[in-house]
Amino acid sequence: MIYLDNNATTRVHPEVAAAMAPFLAEEYGNPSTGYPLGRRSKAAVDEARAQVAALIDAAPDEIVFTSCGTESDNAALASALAAAPERRHLVTSAVEHSAVILFARALAPELEVTELPVDGGGRIDLGDLRSALRPDTALVSLMWANNETGVCQPVAEAAAIAHEAGVPFHTDAVNAAGKIPLSVAGTDIDYLSLSGHKFHAPKGVGALYVRGGAPFRPLLIGGGQEEGRRAGTEAVPQVVALGKAAELAKARLDDGGAAELAGLRDRLEEKLFAAIDGLHRNGDPAHRLPNTSHLSIDRVPAGDLLILTAEDGLCISSGSACSTGKREPSRIMKAMGHDDERALSSIRLSVSSMNTTGDIDRAADIIIAAVEKIRSLRPEEAGPVAFAG
Ligand code: PLP
Repeated sequence: MIYLDNNATTRVHPEVAAAMAPFLAEEYGNPSTGYPLGRRSKAAVDEARAQVAALIDAAPDEIVFTSCGTESDNAALASALAAAPERRHLVTSAVEHSAVILFARALAPELEVTELPVDGGGRIDLGDLRSALRPDTALVSLMWANNETGVCQPVAEAAAIAHEAGVPFHTDAVNAAGKIPLSVAGTDIDYLSLSGHKFHAPKGVGALYVRGGAPFRPLLIGGGQEEGRRAGTEAVPQVVALGKAAELAKARLDDGGAAELAGLRDRLEEKLFAAIDGLHRNGDPAHRLPNTSHLSIDRVPAGDLLILTAEDGLCISSGSACSTGKREPSRIMKAMGHDDERALSSIRLSVSSMNTTGDIDRAADIIIAAVEKIRSLRPEEAGPVAFAG
């Protein structure tokens, strides 16, 4: 099997699995208890907090552990809205993850949501952001990097513009973490969401950075864990895993990890562009994650390509969701101004540091062979493709 779907999730790193293992077995203490078993759990959680903080240049007490990226996003939005009940307007973008956009839309009509458009490269215009801000804007939420296209937004500049207008700023950095260096130091970012399974920790653990002094109202209310910011007994094994994964990610990035990812991604693109005509890159190439390649292939429905490549053991994604047997064009591609045909022929290839050049070469061969097969069954003169369900 060749796994090139690392924006969907990543393999747990063996060192991460080893770090969490004792906390699934003999180290089962509740961190809120005072005897040695509990104190050891508490110490492990504290260490993980420092490791996660170091990944984004934050202070440990600015990190709140959550159950996933979705919870981090929901908590940031809910908090900002609860902290400013007189403000009922939120600014976000048309390309946010559903954990932000659907949460915001679900609060309508009490909440007015401005979804900033993006250009053909998938980026917002900072002038549009300036014009969207109002005296009753409670929050700006703008993702660091898009999970589908890998396109990065000008987050630091956007945060500064929000603060000039007295508006707090949240960024969903779930798909950026571990792939590019992230620093909140010296920025106006108030809240930042992370999710462990996107950088080699297991699923079911995330974190929310809350800048010291930023208003915060908890989403989960109960016990006083996480300094009253997120009730619920800490998921110690997962938290330990997140800490270890953050430490490894930081070490990789400090050691040129982003350039290594780009090397793998670029090798793959070079092979595909050399062999396939009618291949298009989606998203601004100057502002995208180093691990992500989002491509559309003329006369090749992504659904068909995914079936063929999966038969050869390749795990990749299409930019479309398959609902009730009908493939819907991706709303991200539509927001970028692409037509249905280009959207429905788009695929996402996302590498990680656990991939090898051998994986890349084999993946390229599999994709090239699948494209040739689909096109041979679908001659050019047949006109626009009929998309398989
Ligand atoms: N935000 C982005 C950009 C994502 O890619 C994802 C995961 O797909 C999420 C949020 C949600 O994270 P989780 O799966 O941990 O809930």
